[in-house]
Parts: sequence; structure tokens; C-alpha cells
Amino acid sequence: MSARRRAAVAVAGVLLLAGCTSFADTLAAEDDARAPTAESPVTASPSADGEVSCPAKRAEPDPDRPRVDLDLRLADDRRTVTGTETLTFTPDLPVDELVFRLVPNGPDSAKAGNRLEVGRVRGDDSAHGRYEQAAAAGPGGLYVVDLAGELAAGESTRLALDFTLTLGSGAFDRFGTDDGLSWWASGAPLLAWEPGVGWAEDPFVELSGETTTSPAADTTVEVSVPQDLTVLMTGAQAAPTAARGGRRTWTSHEPVARDVSVAAGTFTTEERTTPRGVRVTAGVLSGAEVEAAQVADWAVAAIGALEQRLGPFPYGTLTVALLPDYGGGIEYPSAILEATPSRAVLVHEVAHQWFYGMVGNSQFRDPWLDEAFATYAEAVVNPADATDLLPALTIDGDVGASMDRFAGDRNYFAVVYGKGAAALLTARRAAGAAAFDAAIRCYVDANAWRIATPADLGAVLGRLTSAVAVLTRAHALD
Ligand SMILES: [Zn+2]
Repeated sequence: MSARRRAAVAVAGVLLLAGCTSFADTLAAEDDARAPTAESPVTASPSADGEVSCPAKRAEPDPDRPRVDLDLRLADDRRTVTGTETLTFTPDLPVDELVFRLVPNGPDSAKAGNRLEVGRVRGDDSAHGRYEQAAAAGPGGLYVVDLAGELAAGESTRLALDFTLTLGSGAFDRFGTDDGLSWWASGAPLLAWEPGVGWAEDPFVELSGETTTSPAADTTVEVSVPQDLTVLMTGAQAAPTAARGGRRTWTSHEPVARDVSVAAGTFTTEERTTPRGVRVTAGVLSGAEVEAAQVADWAVAAIGALEQRLGPFPYGTLTVALLPDYGGGIEYPSAILEATPSRAVLVHEVAHQWFYGMVGNSQFRDPWLDEAFATYAEAVVNPADATDLLPALTIDGDVGASMDRFAGDRNYFAVVYGKGAAALLTARRAAGAAAFDAAIRCYVDANAWRIATPADLGAVLGRLTSAVAVLTRAHALD
């Protein structure tokens, strides 16, 4: 997520105090081929001294990951979505309940009129469901389905949930309606499972940021919408059905989606295919400040630049829906809700496809693992951005703090995005660009399709002691 204006204000305030740093300019000119120094790059295999291995290739998704099928219908009122979520879940730890996060019922989203209600629950092992976290506005922030008995690790259960999502008025959020447009992301009950850990029952916070944790799931989406609307969503989309009864049905499949975004609007679209074969589709509404072709070109360029540093784009497709200018962008697996016509914001959201989409994290516990890296990536694509970001290293605050530790959006953006990115840029400078980039590539490949932790990052940084020192001083790594 990127709330561009607020973040810019927060960091600019620091710039006035801290001024420019001398190495900001030289950082941009650093050659990626710069030789590692005495600190060797991370290449070793696991060994007795704790050195961490870098995989020869990117880690594969868990073959036992959840399977999620969403069958959705946007009503003719264009603000009511009815749906059924069918889930096959094979936990890696014993469970006696299933926990779903109802993101639309979080405090800010509920205030704007968004609401997610769960109806009938069906499943071989499920007894009944109930709402929890009633402190969140609306029916509750979590929905818990009790199982008839304990499900052992490695055993599967299948469940279907009916639900109704009401979309509120347009705002910088993952749900809303506007002229010719309805969009919803995290609009279905979200399986809140952290493999190896358990249920993520974190509280909601009143910040403009995500608080979810969810596993990569083999996901299909089928959505029926009024026939004048074009759908841009997570996953590789098939051509829509022919119009019938004033409606068309759109389908998609994404084998590794943590969550799903759907935008249904009177979009004009443009398609591109990147040199590595990623299909990019951008859509804009009439009167947009930029054309779909421009947005598509920005996305292709961002993917190319980031692939050089981070390896192949995680998905086969990317859709970018340009919404009215609410001032930011919101990332979803293989889909971006771009709510401002900004190239820099788009770079940030494309970077999230690696950090959050592929390398997952608890967005409540460790928000910096996706937000600091996505902001850092802005300077990867546009090195001049480092000049603006680096002074944020002097801001007070712990980069690695959880979402409930921030007083408000201004503090959160300044510390997690600004200071976090500055710490990563400074760590790269300290370790040497080649050694640091190799370590980050290792982190990405080793933690693909998992929920990573700061300890996982610390492990791959290994003997890059000066980089670890920078990140430790910023309280990103403990
Ligand atoms: Zn972000």
C-alpha cells in the first residue's frame, strides 16, 4: 500500500531537519557489479557455523496449500456482492477451528459503509460459525468456524461459506463505488492462517495499512457483473462470457494468491507482454489523467527494472486498475488498485508483488517487511529517489514495530516506509551493493510463497555484519 501524499509530507519534514547526506548521490551511481568487500556474499550451504544456504532456484509453493474458489455476483445496484467461498484447507498444525478475517469490517472501512456478513456455512467437519472481535465496527472482524473435532496436521477439510459484501462510498480503500466503478479487494472471508504458527487473530488498527496474514492459495474467481463493466482482477483472466440477461461472467485462476482484488468498471484497457512473458493489462476510466497505454508501459518498465534486482516477476499476469485519484495505491497478488496516476506509486505496488505477494509477511506484526522493501524498490527503479529517502534514517521510531505501536498514519509512514527504506539503502551501502543484492535475492528465493520473518532476513544477511548493524540500529532486526 502506498499513501503517497502522506508519506511524502512525513519524509519531507525530516528532509528540512536533516539535509542531504553525502553518499546519497554516490549511491545512485554505484555499480551493481561492485566487488564484495571483506564481507563475503551469501553463497554458502547450511553448515555448522549457521551459514544459511541460498537456493539454486526459487522455492516452490507448498503443494498442500489451500484451494480457494470464489463465486461472486455484483448486483445491479453495483454495490452489493453476493458470493460463495469454497475452501479446501490442509493445516500443517492440528486445528479445531477455522478463522477468517473480515477486512471490510475493520474500523475505517466500516465507517465508509463497507460491510461483510457471512451467511450459511457448510462442510463435512464444521459445526457452526460465529463472529469475533466485536470491537471492530460491523458484525465483527473475525469469523470463526468450529470444527466437529480436531483436524490433525496434514488432514484436509472442505468448507463453503456464503457471504454478502456491501460496498461503501469511494475512498482510498480496498472497497468502494464511484461513477462506472465498483471495486473490492479482501472482500471475501480471508483464511487467516500462518503456516507453522497458527491463526492470525491480530486486532484491527486505525491506520491506513494492512493487518492481514494469509497463505498463498490456489485460487479461482468467477464473477458475474452488469454487461457494461470490464473486470480487472487477480489471476490470469479468460475472455468473458457473451452477454446474457444483461450480464457477463468473468473468470480467472491464480495458483498462488494470498488474497484477491476485483475491479469492475467501464474501463478502457491496454495489454502488453513483457520480454519474460508476463501479461500486463491496464485499465482506465473515461476522463482519466493518463491513458491505459501509459499505465501499461509504466508497469512493464517497473517489472523489467525489478526483475534485474529480484529475479522473475512472481506471477504470469498483472492487472492494473486506475481508480479515481484517492491518493495512493493498494497491492494485491497479480493485481493493483492504482488510486493515483503516479508512476512512482505504481513502482511501489509492483515491488509489492515480490514483497507481500510472493515473500509473504504478517502485515500486522512485521509491516516493514513489505512496506520498507517496496519503498526501497522505488529507489532501485529511480535511483534519484534515494536522495529523498536516506535522511529518514534519523527519524525516531522502531522500523520493526508492529501496527499497534504507531500513533497515527504520519508516524507509521515516516518510520515503516521512510526510515525502513532508508535503513535498507544504508545497509546496502555499508555492505557493498553486490553482496547486499545477492543476500536480498537469496532472501526472496528462499522465502518465496512463505510467510517470512525478520529472522529469515537476518539469517540470509549472515556475515554482512555492517548491513545487520544498520538494520539493528534502526530496530528493524532485533
Ligand atoms: Zn506499500
